[in-house]
Amino acid sequence: MTSIDLLLKRNEELGNIVPGDRSSASPSLHVAILTCMDARIRVFELFGLLQGESHVLRNAGGVVTDDMIRSLALSQRKLGTREVLIMQHTSCGLNMVTEDSFKDELEEASGLRPTWAVEAFRDVEASVRQSVRRVQTSPFLLHKDIVRGFVYDVHTGALSEVS
Ligand SMILES: [Zn+2]
Repeated sequence: MTSIDLLLKRNEELGNIVPGDRSSASPSLHVAILTCMDARIRVFELFGLLQGESHVLRNAGGVVTDDMIRSLALSQRKLGTREVLIMQHTSCGLNMVTEDSFKDELEEASGLRPTWAVEAFRDVEASVRQSVRRVQTSPFLLHKDIVRGFVYDVHTGALSEVS
């Protein structure tokens, strides 16, 4: 049995029981949460999110990339979100590689060097600040006054705002 088979079995057992408002695609809290794909971050539980309340955008690192801006532009302009919460975390995989070492690894394995940035970082708070700044300076976004950055400690569960 693959893991996907396991998930499908769980889905069948759970049935259609998730509470919340399904009437609109526009998040009722008008907020978009950007975070890392790290499996220890349970975004919905962490913020007590119900169905229909928030957009949740995830990638490796929870870093604001062009593709995050693409999703945020749609989120703000077509689905009415006005606030952005960016949450990166301690012990992130992007803290354990460097830009060059990961690109070298891919190039050695494939013969191709990626054109995209790995977005590796040493200082998680500096990385959060950079992502906040990328949102604040994007010409494609409508709402840039409420953009807040946080670091989530995956071991203690503590959430700290980055100023
Ligand atoms: Zn991470």
